Amino acid sequence: METQLDWSAYDSYGAGDAYAALPAEGGAYGKAAAVCIGNRQCQRSEKGVMCPSFRVTQDTAHSTQHRAATLKAALNGEYGPKPFLGPELQAAMDLCVSCKGCKRECPNGVDMALLRVEALAQRWSQSGRVPLRERLLANLPRLAPWLGRLGWLLRLRERLPLLARLLERGLGISAQRSLPQGAKRSFLSHAPQQAVGTEDGREVVLLVDTFSNHFEPATAQAALDVLLAAGYRVHIARPASGQRPLCCGRTYLSNGLVEQARAEAKRVVEALEPYAERGLPIIGLEPSCLLMLRDEYYALGFGEQTAKIAKSALLLEEFLAKEHDGKRLNLPLQPLPGVQALVHGHCHQKAFGAMKAMRKVLGLVPGLQTELIESSCCGMAGSFGLESEHYDVSMQMGELALLPKLREADLQTLVIANGTSCRHQIRDGAQREGLHLARVLQAALGKPAPADETSESDSVEVKEAPAEV
Ligand code: SF4
Ligand code: SF4
Repeated sequence: METQLDWSAYDSYGAGDAYAALPAEGGAYGKAAAVCIGNRQCQRSEKGVMCPSFRVTQDTAHSTQHRAATLKAALNGEYGPKPFLGPELQAAMDLCVSCKGCKRECPNGVDMALLRVEALAQRWSQSGRVPLRERLLANLPRLAPWLGRLGWLLRLRERLPLLARLLERGLGISAQRSLPQGAKRSFLSHAPQQAVGTEDGREVVLLVDTFSNHFEPATAQAALDVLLAAGYRVHIARPASGQRPLCCGRTYLSNGLVEQARAEAKRVVEALEPYAERGLPIIGLEPSCLLMLRDEYYALGFGEQTAKIAKSALLLEEFLAKEHDGKRLNLPLQPLPGVQALVHGHCHQKAFGAMKAMRKVLGLVPGLQTELIESSCCGMAGSFGLESEHYDVSMQMGELALLPKLREADLQTLVIANGTSCRHQIRDGAQREGLHLARVLQAALGKPAPADETSESDSVEVKEAPAEV
């Protein structure tokens, strides 16, 4: 079996008991599955157990252990010559939301999110086709500019339930979901081409992801405002001239289109390499995008080439917290008097330990009292919650803790969520507007709200937040 991802990191991973029963096929991919020793800690029923699909169903068939065991059986030939097309593996993987909870909390660090990507890629390869919905969702970076121009059509879908239902039947996108409204003008279409900020300020690189660029340019602008206010000299990462904006490749990878994800990652690596060589911090906003540089880029085969980039890649909150610890942060934040904030962490922020930084940076805003919501995955998980067959379970995941907590909060309480899809789930499930940390810091700098040239959703965010925001 030829794998599409690079699993060589598992060649020598944890040799010992875990390898007592290596699958017959799959090589290092099989080893990565065999890392699960089946002690079923992921099937404990108490609150807080890692896997959201098990938490919500309480069914071992939707646990990490079962997924790993099914994958091992598939690689042992128990489901026939084309196991990736069979119902067993598809059913086992169906509710995995790729949250990386297992990578963080399983005692052996089983990375089911990555194992699932390879399983999907093998499925497309064995079937010889990728379904239309998955192709559309994967190609979001290419479609996003059109979504901005076709906002009227998306709004029409929201007003005409029949149209939403027709689209659900044709595409498998839930009629019960709102769809993200693209911005009229992307951030990168008018962002500075050359470095901006204090001439002798510390140089940093801002890597603007597809979601911030096309759907919430106000968030990218807020991050730029914050970095400039702190005195940094900011380079905005761009591809070689004439190419479309950079994209980390997340949407392709999540949908099992490994080659396309690799092509996106290659452009990112080429654009960032010169900065990484100079040791400049590379700052990102969307957790699932930026953290790909530190994680999946290795599995995409960039190896050593990505090592320097991975070292330099930081979420905005990680960068600011580090600067604060190093006594280099000079951000003139003003109080937001009496303001309470509820913070929902993106799964990948939690998996990579970024919530501490989030708390630290929010603590720099005078008067802001923050509470971290004890929640697992919000349930949207990229495009998972958009898929019609997953809508119910997606909402159940949100209802476990996040959505009830938000409904209890008064309207003056800020809702802070750094994940685009988390904000989408919050909007759909609790009718609240979540803000990225960058927007809160921008408000605390006394910056005016962004001009109304963004999408509808951006405007709403600004309106609902307290006066300073
Ligand atoms: S996934 Fe981790 S916690 Fe669950 S059975 Fe396997 S080793 Fe144990
Ligand atoms: S990635 Fe998340 S949903 Fe998937 S098996 Fe791991 S903990 Fe469960």
